[in-house]
Amino acid sequence: MAWDFETDADFQRELDWVDDFVTREVEPLDLVLGSEWDIHAPLFGKLVRPLQAVVRERKLWACHLGPELGGPGYGQLKLALLNEILGRSRFGPIVFGCQAPDSGNAEILAHYGTPEQKQRYLQPLLRNEMVSCFSMTEPQGGADPQVFTTRAVQDGDGWVINGEKWFSSNAVFAGFVIVMAVTDPDAAPYQRMSMFIVPAGTPGLRIVRNVQVPGEPEATHAYIHWDGVRVPADAMLGGRGQAFAVAQTRLGGGRVHHAMRTLGKARMAFNMLCERALSRFTQGEQLARKQMVQEKIADSWLDLEQFRLLLLRTAWRIDQCQDYRQVRGDIAAIKALMPRVLHDVAQRALLLHGSIGISDEMPFADMVLHSYHLALADGPTEVHKVTLAREVLKGYAAGEAVFPDYHLPARQAKARAKFAAALAELEP
Ligand SMILES: Cc1cc2nc3c(=O)[nH]c(=O)nc-3n(C[C@H](O)[C@H](O)[C@H](O)COP(=O)(O)OP(=O)(O)OC[C@H]3O[C@@H](n4cnc5c(N)ncnc54)[C@H](O)[C@@H]3O)c2cc1C
Repeated sequence: MAWDFETDADFQRELDWVDDFVTREVEPLDLVLGSEWDIHAPLFGKLVRPLQAVVRERKLWACHLGPELGGPGYGQLKLALLNEILGRSRFGPIVFGCQAPDSGNAEILAHYGTPEQKQRYLQPLLRNEMVSCFSMTEPQGGADPQVFTTRAVQDGDGWVINGEKWFSSNAVFAGFVIVMAVTDPDAAPYQRMSMFIVPAGTPGLRIVRNVQVPGEPEATHAYIHWDGVRVPADAMLGGRGQAFAVAQTRLGGGRVHHAMRTLGKARMAFNMLCERALSRFTQGEQLARKQMVQEKIADSWLDLEQFRLLLLRTAWRIDQCQDYRQVRGDIAAIKALMPRVLHDVAQRALLLHGSIGISDEMPFADMVLHSYHLALADGPTEVHKVTLAREVLKGYAAGEAVFPDYHLPARQAKARAKFAAALAELEP
């Protein structure tokens, strides 16, 4: 019976190296640099590029890629363990070549791109010579793609795109934008849209403004107007009407990596919480001796360890079945749970640190607010809970009678029938 919680010794050595490297070299970057996608900033060249070279040398660059794209082909379980460490630093993912949304965009380019598209966009993306943007959400709604109205109309041998997109992260730094647009308004609901790759600087692609969210160093979420943006026919990514199928491809493994990075961040808050509990004295004793503080520590430990086990099992299941659709419920579960774990642990750490905890001299307020970012980006928690519930219910069927089989009188009658002989012998 295979049931093993151990990491193999060779990979553990790599994890130990990453742990030390992230602590010494990567975490300090968070404190001096702006957006991690601003890859042409002079300081990025000076401070981040040398670290990326070290990671490449160590053969840990873009580990999420399969061997066909030059990656090591690690399974999801190894990637999960690696991402748990990278999540401690804002710059962790980009130093290791696995930052969103580029990793997901690379995934769909690898899967659906033509040889020319791969040459022009995928290769430079994998080398981090350019970063990319995924432009799907619209001002009138993001959780329900059926309300999207941005339109691509065939014109001669190309397409013309008109509409608005909202919260297109990193468009300002991107070499290209992958945009979802309605090409077939009368088709079935999930076949109305197609994906297009649009190079930055294409006339008509206009960033109206960049929106900032708390905890991020600058405004990077673009409100974009698409005013008659003309692209050639070969700008379409995947087939006509296939945008939903393409979008689904980018969300499988990425959600597990993202959740593991969140766990890494939450564990940082937990470590600070524990140190604080041992360091601070009030009413003549350590905070750690107070039962309500002990409850905070115990609840946080439970939150982290339960989440970690669910995450690792999900990664393991993906490795076993190699089909995201079979693990859809588990992936939805970790996406739904991730914001709550970060929120609750960071909030307890914030409170235990008192006034300094809520100040901008500590990371906790940013972490709490970041949990709301996690609850929205890549689909709101409610939508993922709906997916989870639907998947769970596939394992159940409706009862046939008004009184269900599990009604106690019915079960008692069945049990009495089963043991009738013994009961007749012994009962008066
Ligand atoms: C930091 C950040 C980065 C982002 N980056 C990108 C990006 O790069 N590209 C991109 O295209 N989009 C991006 N988004 C947008 C994100 O995908 C949307 O915010 C998300 O899909 C929700 O859409 P909405 O904001 O329009 O909210 P709405 O769709 O209006 O939903 C609002 C709320 O309504 C409730 N709700 C919605 N649907 C249901 C339901 N079925 N059942 C119950 N309640 C429901 C939920 O509480 C939800 O939070 C980003 C968002 C954030 C916060």
